Amino acid sequence: MTGRVAVVGSFNVDHVWVAASLPRPGETLAGDYRSGPGGKGFNQAIAAARAGAPTDFICALGDDAGGALARALAHDDGIALHDMRSDAPTGTAGIFVGEAGGNSIVIGPGANAALTPAFVDAQRAVIARAAVVVVQLESPLDAITQALRIARGAGAVRVLNPAPANVAVPAELLALADVITPNETEFAALLDAHAGERIDATAIAALGDDTLHALCRRLLPHGTVVVTLGAAGCFVSHGARRVSEAEHARVPGERADAIDTTGAGDAFNGALAASIALGPGCSLNEQLRFANRYAALSTERAGAAVAMPTAAQVQARFGD
Ligand code: AMP
Repeated sequence: MTGRVAVVGSFNVDHVWVAASLPRPGETLAGDYRSGPGGKGFNQAIAAARAGAPTDFICALGDDAGGALARALAHDDGIALHDMRSDAPTGTAGIFVGEAGGNSIVIGPGANAALTPAFVDAQRAVIARAAVVVVQLESPLDAITQALRIARGAGAVRVLNPAPANVAVPAELLALADVITPNETEFAALLDAHAGERIDATAIAALGDDTLHALCRRLLPHGTVVVTLGAAGCFVSHGARRVSEAEHARVPGERADAIDTTGAGDAFNGALAASIALGPGCSLNEQLRFANRYAALSTERAGAAVAMPTAAQVQARFGD
């Protein structure tokens, strides 16, 4: 049986300006402009769909051009959209990209902030038929918590992408996850909040594997922690349910000619969810290898949702 992925999360219209450097306070720069779809939830839903999984996306949209864009794009990618109509404008993100690297982002949550537990609850049948349910932190915490509760009741694999890092993750939400996928910054924030460990995010990748594993076990004793490490790939620390695999491993990243890493984490999460849904018999480490490849290819294209490759393109680029 082909497993479905259900993503509960945000949709934003991204407005992106690329300039030689990031503007300092008070500074005005000229740069190139583009706009396109984004939002962590939508990016991950597009990635899951293009990676080959039948995908549902549950979100809140405004009654405006941004909402119409989301509906049209979801339709184009064969995503089943379940949108709550909000009086607020569709979510937006203003993104400055410096050619020398780095970006600065301001999010206007708009309709995303209006997603309610009651609407999520009304999508119970959609969530319950999914093999994998994915949530992130750009939607109200009570709404995504409700999604994971329903998923737990239905026996779905529950993936929590704890992004962005500035949102505090309640212990209840963490406890509902089977798999969490922080990047280094998010991992450091979670360790600070839930394990009483203050570690600089830039020091995470250089920690020894046994140390990383011990930190992951304290953070999510029952589940699997995947720390994404940018070009270096990821580190996985398996929970008790994965006793047949090595307890922890580094899954190296793929070499890519990266031009835009915006949305690389979303590519990784969507591809991982699809891979778990489509191949429940495969080892998680194999699925992480696919997620690394998928995310690496996404960095070779500009943009977030529009940069997501198909499974066939990943295979053509990296082989089996
Ligand atoms: P990050 O959120 O930066 O940790 O990136 C998420 C995932 O995207 C990583 O685990 C890699 O699989 C992939 N990735 C990010 N940046 C690069 C890069 N420069 N080259 C190859 N893969 C990358």
